[in-house]
Amino acid sequence: MAIYPIRTFPDPVLTLKAGTVRTFDDDLQRLVDDMLETMYDAPGVGLAAPQIGISKRVFVADAGDGPFAMVNPEVVETQGKWKFEEGCLSVPGRYWTIKRADFVRAEGLDLDGNPVAYEGDELLGRVLQHEIDHLNGVLLLERLSARTRRAALSDLRSEALGRPGGPA
Ligand code: ZN
Repeated sequence: MAIYPIRTFPDPVLTLKAGTVRTFDDDLQRLVDDMLETMYDAPGVGLAAPQIGISKRVFVADAGDGPFAMVNPEVVETQGKWKFEEGCLSVPGRYWTIKRADFVRAEGLDLDGNPVAYEGDELLGRVLQHEIDHLNGVLLLERLSARTRRAALSDLRSEALGRPGGPA
């Protein structure tokens, strides 16, 4: 098991659409084990592979009912709306109130390549949306209102410029 460094905004890997997983082998199992260890160490409730620099459609999560992983997941159903304060390990230390669907059903594959589905409302529904967004190269910044996003981006950019060694 290994803890990976977590890539942070504006690392370009975070804005790529991640590639479909086609091989279900020990390497995939190892990746998921490492991602879970990295997520719990952070600590976070979800982690997508691009956040550790691996542009593959895999995420892990634990919204309070134990860990799980999904491969090649898609949101297939949403219901309702729910506003909640949300953060991201790739935009550390920042939180915004974001409106998303409340209930979500996601379908994908397990580590053996068999169909699997997870569904839930509130935190689980939000984690499913947030992680699947990561696999599509979408950060929570894109879920902010235009005005809030502009303010957040200028804030994050000036912070990056002020860092010793300049922007990274
Ligand atoms: Zn995130």
